[in-house]
Amino acid sequence: MKELVLISGKGGTGKTSLVAAFAALAAKIVLCDADVDAADLHLVTQPRILETHPLVAGHKAVIDPERCTQCGLCREWCRFGAINADLRIEPLLCEGCGVCARLCPEQAVDFREKTCGVWHVSETPYGPMVHARLGIAEENSGKMVALVRREARRIAETRRIPMILTDGPPGVGCPVIASIGNADAVLAVAEPTVSGRHDVDRVLALADHFRVPAAVCVNKWDVHPKEAARIAEAAREKGAECVGFIPFDPVVTRSQVDGRCLMEYGETAVVRSIEQVWEKLCALLGRADGDLKSLQ
Ligand code: SF4
Ligand code: SF4
Repeated sequence: MKELVLISGKGGTGKTSLVAAFAALAAKIVLCDADVDAADLHLVTQPRILETHPLVAGHKAVIDPERCTQCGLCREWCRFGAINADLRIEPLLCEGCGVCARLCPEQAVDFREKTCGVWHVSETPYGPMVHARLGIAEENSGKMVALVRREARRIAETRRIPMILTDGPPGVGCPVIASIGNADAVLAVAEPTVSGRHDVDRVLALADHFRVPAAVCVNKWDVHPKEAARIAEAAREKGAECVGFIPFDPVVTRSQVDGRCLMEYGETAVVRSIEQVWEKLCALLGRADGDLKSLQ
């Protein structure tokens, strides 16, 4: 089984549209939306939700007024200023560090695990999908990313599906680190701008640090061909193959607005370039252990 994770230095590079397009090209696939903060793969894959589970991560502190003697110790030590003058905890300021619960001489602080959203197992026209939805103002964490990836892997193993396609979070922070560990390859999706080139540098350095083979593709390359060429060259210098250039096409936006996969809009230039990128990715992944045929 292989897992390919699409990442990018910032949001809005076209990662999710590409994941959905690759899913349409693959014969058997498990989809995983690890961009838990801004999950949107469900918008273009028409999932039918089969299972919903609570997403439990982190803790929240609540003071029991019956037991509290109002000594003020917790307020004094809460470095996040989450405990107000009335000795009530502001849920949006509480970081769940647990200091108040530990120091309270009356054990008046209830420090319980919190449910910060839900995760789903769905069926899509392309195969099963694991995705999550965070509650309002809840924070993402590597733990949630690890959870959706673990579930995607379990489904792939149970149903003998040879590939997992993961829509990773943008950036190089904790959720991205959690989304690429133990993956078989990452595809960094870049836009042809100077900041896009720096983003590619950062995500390739991250992939290299975790010893995950990386490839790069440039989306909307024809908006700035020279910068697209620079990104491909910079990637090559870092040992990552540039697997393709995808042109700008308003049909991509139309497919997002319609909530449909890009591949349903006929044989356009953008579709042909995505097919070429997919073939190269399959070849790259297949090279790792000769398992290419099972992916297509
Ligand atoms: S430390 Fe405990 S008893 Fe003291 S104010 Fe805080 S909750 Fe109340
Ligand atoms: S858990 Fe930490 S952040 Fe939250 S109220 Fe207690 S001391 Fe403050």
